[in-house]
Parts: sequence; structure tokens; C-alpha cells
Amino acid sequence: MSQTTERPLINVESHEPGSAKGIYHLVIHLSQSRGIAVGRLGWHFFPRGYYVYTGSALSGLGARLNRHLREDKRDRWHIDYLLRAGRLTEIWYHVTGRRLECTANQAIANMPGAREVVCGFGSSDCRCRTHLWHFRVRPRLDRSRFRPAARAARVESVDRS
Ligand SMILES: [Zn+2]
Repeated sequence: MSQTTERPLINVESHEPGSAKGIYHLVIHLSQSRGIAVGRLGWHFFPRGYYVYTGSALSGLGARLNRHLREDKRDRWHIDYLLRAGRLTEIWYHVTGRRLECTANQAIANMPGAREVVCGFGSSDCRCRTHLWHFRVRPRLDRSRFRPAARAARVESVDRS
């Protein structure tokens, strides 16, 4: 998988209609443990390793993913603070109009090694404890038990360095 870090920034809209609805996972690598202020959630300690965040975009998956890729933006969501500190290494997405975000998030939570770091991260609008899971080693999302994603999600590699 070493070559994946050398590929260029993706343009999601070249792959999918910008208006498509869907859900997505972001894989973020944090090379050093550090404290991060996460908006109203305040300061939290983030161990180094990999984080998987699950979100949904019901009005424009392409636009949302491209926003996650941009660096010149104001911090708005919890994930923006972590993206600023870490490195986005993979995007997995699934085009669907169904509200499967929490189901997909639960599948990540059930993967071996998943740990909660911040309660309430990305889950202000649902009943999940968090939409962000930490892994000490790079998680294999193709082994997620979220079957729609396993069939249809696409892997994109991102190099922001
Ligand atoms: Zn949820």
C-alpha cells in the first residue's frame, strides 16, 4: 500500500455527480499524539494512530468531500479540527439516499481495535456515542461488516503533503 501515499489529490466531482447523496468514511492519520481543541467539545487528548470518521451528505456528496479536502476553510464541524491536525489518507464513500450513516458508523465501531476517544464527536444529531473511532494500526475498511460499503464504497488515496 506504500504507493497510495504518492498519488495526487482527488477531485471527487470527477468521479461522482456533485449532487449525489451518500455516506462516507474518512481515514485520518495522526503521526504524533497531541491535544486538540474540538470546538464546543473542548480540549481532548488524541493518541497517535488512525481515526475513522463517518458522515453523510444528503445534498451533495462530491461537494462535501471536496470541502473535507480543502484546507482554506473555517472550522465548522468537529472533524474539521482533526483534519487540520492530521492527514487525510483515505476516503470511502457509498452513494445512497438512505440514512445509513449510523449503521455504517456502528460497523466501524465493531471492527477489531476500535476505541472511542471523544464522546459526542460528530454525533450531535443522532444517538450514537461518537462517529469517530481510533485505531492503533491502519484499519482495513474493506473488512468492515457494513455490507453496502463493502460492495460499493470506493477507496481514494489522498496526498496533502
Ligand atoms: Zn449516529
